[in-house]
Formats: sequence, C-alpha cells, structure tokens
Amino acid sequence: MGKVLLIGAGGVGTVVAHKMAELPEVFSEILLASRTKEKCDAIAARTGSSNLKTARVNADNVPELVQLIRSFKPDLVVNVALPYQDLTIMDACLETGVSYLDTANYEPLDEAKFEYKWQWAYRERFEKAGLTAILGCGFDPGVSGIYTAYAAKHHFDEIQYLDIVDCNAGNHGKAFATNFNPEINIREVTQKGKYWENGQWVMTEPHEIHQPLTYPRIGEKESYLIFHEELESLVINFPTIRRARFWMTFGQEYLTHLRVIQNIGMAGIQPINYEGKEIVPIQFLKAVLPKPEELGVNYTGETSIGCRIKGIKDGKEKTYYVYNNCSHEAAYAETGTQAISYTTGVPAMIGAMLFLQGKWKKPGVFNVEEFDPDPFMRELNMHGLPWYELTDIDLELD
Ligand code: NDP
Repeated sequence: MGKVLLIGAGGVGTVVAHKMAELPEVFSEILLASRTKEKCDAIAARTGSSNLKTARVNADNVPELVQLIRSFKPDLVVNVALPYQDLTIMDACLETGVSYLDTANYEPLDEAKFEYKWQWAYRERFEKAGLTAILGCGFDPGVSGIYTAYAAKHHFDEIQYLDIVDCNAGNHGKAFATNFNPEINIREVTQKGKYWENGQWVMTEPHEIHQPLTYPRIGEKESYLIFHEELESLVINFPTIRRARFWMTFGQEYLTHLRVIQNIGMAGIQPINYEGKEIVPIQFLKAVLPKPEELGVNYTGETSIGCRIKGIKDGKEKTYYVYNNCSHEAAYAETGTQAISYTTGVPAMIGAMLFLQGKWKKPGVFNVEEFDPDPFMRELNMHGLPWYELTDIDLELD
C-alpha cells in the first residue's frame, strides 16, 4: 500500500521496524535510515523481512535528507531519531513534498526546553503543500492524547480534570539506566514541574509534588508531578479542561542517582573544555550509561500508562480511567526491546498505517488528539497494546 522512510535505529526504531515488517500489505517498502547504518542492518536482519532496506543518513543535514527522500520516494517519513532532528526532517519533507510523523516534540540542543511552538509554526506550510504532519505519536505523547480524545468523544460531554499517569514498575537489574535516550530522558525529568489550572500554567520545583497512586496489576507507587509535552496541546484542544497534570513514578534509587548526577554537573548541556577538547557533560554521560536498547534482556515487570479523567456526562459527574499495561518480558520476546520502546514504537506504526490508509490524513500540522481516535483505539487492541476502562471509580487525585 505505501512506502515509508523510517529514521532512527534506536530502541523505538527497532520496534517500529519490526511492527511495520509484519504488515507488508500496509508497508510495502520500508527504508530504515540512521546515523549508524550497521545498527539499521542489524535490525533488518532480525526482522528477516525482504521489504526492509537500510541506509545511512545524518538527519541534521537537510540536503542529505532531501537526497535520500528523492531517491526512495516514500509516502511518509517516520521520525524516531531524536527531538533535535524534528525541524530538519520537517524541512526536508516540505522540500520533497512528503508527509511526516514523529513521537517527540522539537527541542533545541543548547536549551532543555520542549515546546510545540517550533513545529506548530510549520502549520501553514504543510497545509499549503497539501501534506500531513502528525506530531507526538508515541505513547505519551501519543496514546495519552488519543485516550483523551476517545474519552471526550464517547464518555463525557465535558472533560474537566485530566491526570495522565505513567508508571514503570519494571526492574532492569542495573544500578542506574534510562529507558529511552538518556540525554533526552534526563533533560526531561530534571526540569521544573508545570501543570495547567484555571487557564494558566502553575510552576513547581522539580519533583516537589508527589503522592502514592495505585496502578492496576502493580499496586501503589510514589508518583511525581512533572511537565510533559502533551499537556500543552491537550489544554488547547480540549478547552473545558480546568486542570491537567502528568504524573510519573520514580524509584528512590533512580532519584538519588539523578540528584548526584545533577549535583556533580554531569547533567550539564553546555560544552566544557576537557584536555583541549570540547565535551558536553550529558552527552559524555550518555556514552557511559547502559544503552536503552540493551536493557531488555533481563527486564522484568510491567509499565502501566493511562488517563484518569473527571467530568460531566448527561448532567452528572463521572470518573473514567483508561490504561494499558505492557510487560517488559513480552515486549522483549517479540521485538528484542523493553516495554518503553515497545509502547512508543507500536503507536508510531499505527499512526503511519492510518495515514497510509487515508484515515489520518489532512493538510496541516496536527497533534494526535485532532484525529478520529476510534480507528487508532481499534488497532491498539490488535497490535499488542490492549486498553482497559474503569468508570465511576476513585481516581485518587483531588
Ligand atoms: P535512541 O537514542 O535509542 O535512538 C535514537 C536513534 O536516532 C539512534 O539510532 C541514533 O543514531 C539516531 N540518530 C540520532 N541522531 C541522528 C542524526 N543526526 N541522524 C540520524 N540518526 C540519528 O532513542 P529512542 O529510540 O529511545 O527514542 C527515539 C525517539 O522516541 C526520541 O525522540 C524519544 O524522545 C522518543 N520517545 C518518545 C516516547 C513517547 O512515548 N512519545 C517515549 C520514548 C521515546 P546512533 O545509533 O548512531 O546514535
């Protein structure tokens, strides 16, 4: 049915490649390109698919991207490299007339600040070119927005309170490791907290607000309020929301390591001079930490990510909790990566499939909640991320 250029051969790229390769009737040709071609070749070999070819590309370089896109002629570019590459890849898509999908919003390399403003600025250009850009199509952002859109469509007349809850109750057996790109992960979780209340953003110190929450099949875990990118678009696309927050679980060991990393300056993003060579501390740290794609082997336990929503239906107050639990072991057995990469890669594949099928296709730049959630919810059940609903329960969050 369609040709896809997949950029990025990390943990998430591994899952997307596996999942796409299983559906040759949808993804008739896949080109997996990344900075290190050997990684693409290893993934291609593991999938055993004859539809999956590989290439090398530096996605920071627009002319190089343009050349690759012109030679392969894809219908869609799926970007699962790093957030730093979002704009160069979008530029190359515009130059070559190809649609775009990613799983994380743009972040400038020299400033730990993720916002949609840079990518939303492309709206008019994508619209005029008749191209689609689908932003944030992983799990969170991604499924978190689709769950919210589904709740708004089927369960509420008015959504008032939204809490996205993200629990990783897995154990990888390492003293410290991050579940996705260490640099991006550490930049994200060490930021100040921020949530939406009564029409404005409320700032908090990092990890200042926390409380125990009970997760299905897992139990109680201390959960910390952090800022997460989908909050920015969800409060715009669902203007009845009075308060929107994001909670993530962290173990004490993880937080202690993080504090030490920050205190000794290893989370720094400004270059320093070391023996005549410029190095960025957090990039050096990334080089010595375990690679997310190598965590899967002994990873046990589950993730549980969902939306807890309170609002009004037929004049009455209603609560609703929709979630998925994903097993690290099952994800590893299927794709050779852990559940964080799996829960991101499966939605990226589904978004690409719905685009190729014409179900999620319209000119402009969109966050996932701006599309019809129903076909996406159906596909989640069929491709390894089944979801469950609970209504009129105690959400544990006032
Ligand atoms: P990894 O670090 O494992 O993989 C990133 C890949 O991108 C690597 O293979 C890397 O190449 C490649 N890459 C980096 N820079 C370039 C470049 N300039 N040109 C070409 N390729 C490049 O990250 P993950 O797979 O864990 O994450 C991928 C993306 O998914 C990130 O943007 C992350 O923020 C996002 N994500 C989204 C989530 C969600 O739920 N929405 C959750 C988790 C992640 P090399 O191997 O040579 O270094």
